[in-house]
Amino acid sequence: MHDTLRWRHRFAELGPRFFTELAADPLPDPHWVAVSPGCAAWLGWPVDWWRAPAALAAFSGGAPWPGMRPLASVYSGHQFGVWAGQLGDGRALLLGEVEAPDGPLEVQLKGSGLTPYSRMGDGRAVLRSSIREFLCSEAMHALGIPTTRALCITASALPVRRETVETAAVVTRVAASFLRFGHFEHFTHTAQDTDALRTLAATAITQHFPALTGRRDRIAALLTEVAERTARLVAQWQCVGFCHGVMNTDNMSLVGLTIDYGPFGFMDGFDPGHICNHTDHQGRYAYARQPSVAYWNLHALAHALLPLLAEEMGVAPDRRHDAVGAATGDDTMAPVQEAALAALEPFKPAFADAMLGGLRAKLGLAEAREGDRELADDLLRLMAAARADFTITFRRLAGFSTAEGATNDALRDLFIDRAAFDAWAARYAARLRAEGRAGADSDAQRAATMNRVNPKFVLRNHLAETAIRRAQAGDFSEVQRLHALLERPFDEQSEHEADAGFPPDWAAQLEVSCSS
Ligand code: AMP
Ligand code: MG
Repeated sequence: MHDTLRWRHRFAELGPRFFTELAADPLPDPHWVAVSPGCAAWLGWPVDWWRAPAALAAFSGGAPWPGMRPLASVYSGHQFGVWAGQLGDGRALLLGEVEAPDGPLEVQLKGSGLTPYSRMGDGRAVLRSSIREFLCSEAMHALGIPTTRALCITASALPVRRETVETAAVVTRVAASFLRFGHFEHFTHTAQDTDALRTLAATAITQHFPALTGRRDRIAALLTEVAERTARLVAQWQCVGFCHGVMNTDNMSLVGLTIDYGPFGFMDGFDPGHICNHTDHQGRYAYARQPSVAYWNLHALAHALLPLLAEEMGVAPDRRHDAVGAATGDDTMAPVQEAALAALEPFKPAFADAMLGGLRAKLGLAEAREGDRELADDLLRLMAAARADFTITFRRLAGFSTAEGATNDALRDLFIDRAAFDAWAARYAARLRAEGRAGADSDAQRAATMNRVNPKFVLRNHLAETAIRRAQAGDFSEVQRLHALLERPFDEQSEHEADAGFPPDWAAQLEVSCSS
């Protein structure tokens, strides 16, 4: 099949300011670790696409298939709130776009060797982080959360130095677009090339936001659209207890996908202040801060787009870039800055709406009523006080009985303050009755609906860790088993009950850092 595939190269057509074309540095003596049949189907590829010897070579950075045209794109970004200049892409190569049934999809190797943007890095990715990215991106997709996907992992005995010596792997990622906020920041702040910035924005709009093409205010409209997508994405993260871990602006997708799986984590016991990235000493990317960090990152994107916004608002060509450095109060630029802020303003209602809608669904509330947010927040407060397991609590909530005298012990047992739980449960039961969702039949119906919203299985750290340890010893069956399990996160799959249980004691000791 690989010699008949048609590849497109719309990114390459942008020209050399945006990337460097180069060949991958192949993994020596590579082998397969995992493939995702679901991702292959999304590409429109047959399930056995990977069995051809040419596939292992191509996806471990060896001989590319005909039509592939590997390139590393350049971007910059803010890391932990600090401008970091040019950052990437130090270890990813775009191979081109595949004409998939749902439209063109970009295919990218990660960990395929040095690029001109590798800085101090070695261009590699370790098996550990590649497994985490593979499993989590496919799991997020199955949860219905927008994300880049993973097609496969190849690996090799090639040693790679991190805190200890590990081994190398290449993960192949697939997405409609790998554009990051950092791509735009690059051309404004690092390259200071407004023409390139304009080209990039125009291409992004044509390819990914076609509804905006004809508009005269399309830059402002683009910002609003990105803000709203980002708001909805982060609300979905919050609703499954997902922490990204490194929400730097180079790890923010322009098209609203979860991108760059590093020190992410699904929370076990609920703690709004939970920091999943061991290197994040300040807690900048703690669970509860994700919405405001997303908003901060959107300001960085807006700042990068100021020259184009100025242009759109009729500012003279020689003054457009001034918008970037203008102090607040600069009379010429004040309207441009105000327009940028106004364009981001819809983030707040979009996030609030998505969060409230998500919480209502988690609680099994079919109607929208006054006080729903308080009811959900009060449950979250009780959960936080008890460090109740995020996933298990909502799964047990589905079994909530509205029957007179029901004590709902399985759920109640998760809370320390039982009286407070009982008071909350009485309010919840009353709220369900108010919309006619009480009684055994309604309870069963509600449970079924809630179980399609609240997953039974998420990629808890300890599950990933077990799969990684086995894989490091040469056994990839646990990676494959978890992958299959997490493809159906809402199904009972009662033969895998242990994977839905409380984490073992050793899970609390696991430390996940940026090192990947
Ligand atoms: P991250 O914060 O992990 O997203 O990393 C920021 C950027 O650093 C990435 O976009 C890569 O381009 C680059 N990078 C990370 N690890 C490596 C590595 N081992 N070799 C080369 N570049 C890397
Ligand atoms: Mg990154």
